[in-house]
Amino acid sequence: MSTLKAVRGTRDLLPPETALWNRIEATARSVFSRYNFGEIRTPVFEDTALFSRGVGEETDIVSKEMYTWEDRARAQSEKTQTLTLRPENTAGVVRAYIEHGLGESGQLQKLYYIGPQFRRERPQKGRYRQFSQIGAEVIGPTSAGSESPLRDAEVLEMLATLLDELGIAGWTLHLNSVGSAADRARYNQTLREALVPLAPQMCADCQRRAETNPLRVLDCKVPADQPLIDTLPVIADSLDEASKAHFAAVKAALDAAGVPYTLNPRLVRGLDYYTRTTFEFTHGGLGAQNALLGGGRYDGLSEMIGGPKAPGIGFAMGEDRLVLTLLALDQNSAPPQADAYIAPLGESMNAAALALARELRHAGVHVELGDGSFRLKKSFESGNKTARKIVILGEDELESGILTVKDFSSGVQTKVPRAELAGFLQN
Ligand code: AMP
Repeated sequence: MSTLKAVRGTRDLLPPETALWNRIEATARSVFSRYNFGEIRTPVFEDTALFSRGVGEETDIVSKEMYTWEDRARAQSEKTQTLTLRPENTAGVVRAYIEHGLGESGQLQKLYYIGPQFRRERPQKGRYRQFSQIGAEVIGPTSAGSESPLRDAEVLEMLATLLDELGIAGWTLHLNSVGSAADRARYNQTLREALVPLAPQMCADCQRRAETNPLRVLDCKVPADQPLIDTLPVIADSLDEASKAHFAAVKAALDAAGVPYTLNPRLVRGLDYYTRTTFEFTHGGLGAQNALLGGGRYDGLSEMIGGPKAPGIGFAMGEDRLVLTLLALDQNSAPPQADAYIAPLGESMNAAALALARELRHAGVHVELGDGSFRLKKSFESGNKTARKIVILGEDELESGILTVKDFSSGVQTKVPRAELAGFLQN
């Protein structure tokens, strides 16, 4: 029989790497709570229409990357539905915002999420079919200040703080404004016209995009197309006065807070809902898939999926890529070790060893419990791989209450009374 394996584009996360995942998530939660964000957990699958209407039919995500299926009705009261594994989480958060009337409080909603997303992309380093995103959204009625450029700058400043606290040095913030929906429509038209003479010389994807969604041409990575793309009009020239003033205010607040950024007029992002501020943080250590995170404003998304006006701004960071970056920066080379390995001398000591392990673990000691069927040599070998010290537990130790502890790095052996053992092991 053939051996079953994890599906292409998915993978298992194993220790010790999972410790790094947990550290990243703990740091993110700590930063989000200092900025007064609360956690939201939305379902992993949603009505397909949420993504086709929210993210956009013409985007790569919706047109070719979604895991979609017909979910057959199981009872007369149900109807067959088309469902999709979420390819991103912003649409789900905005759906929940509408469904629970979160805007009715009149307050800004500041929500973060951590969880898996699914896209049928071509797998490569840093690109998977199941990947994890850490994201946050600030959304609310206009009266709550949700359109203010201060919200954009605060989110970007929070991201700079988060990356710094994670220990990711050397990131670059790329910043652009794609304007209001009207500005974008105007720019799309300008691009469409500018592309008429150029498209025939470009790649097949660009030829198609020039017709269906000219903005996407700016995302093209084909080297031969780049000199042509560089000659295209930039979106900054299509912004109206209000969009220009909004963007200027975002930049001024970032300057005041000392958050460095690079203006990138080609940054339009792959999802249709973005308006005004768009951004991406990249890191040189990642290779071709160098985007750590992306985000922007989505002032019309709520209306696109049938909700009230609810401007918002958010981002999604690729947790897989944070892990890759930290591994490349070699911040986690030391394998995690237990404080102590308990070696029972003979199988008759196993039960007493479990009782000792329980006592020490309750006192906060990290304990690896051996097995009395091992010879002493094997216990030492195994202990040396998993813990800093080894505790020998035989009949004598049990009766006298004095245990023998050996420190693997110094080789020093010490007799320690059972009552003092927990404190000794944690030093
Ligand atoms: P997006 O939702 O496309 O704006 O992506 C936001 C971030 O999610 C990107 O900057 C990546 O870090 C991460 N990301 C997107 N797609 C993938 C994928 N297939 N595999 C791993 N990370 C991804």
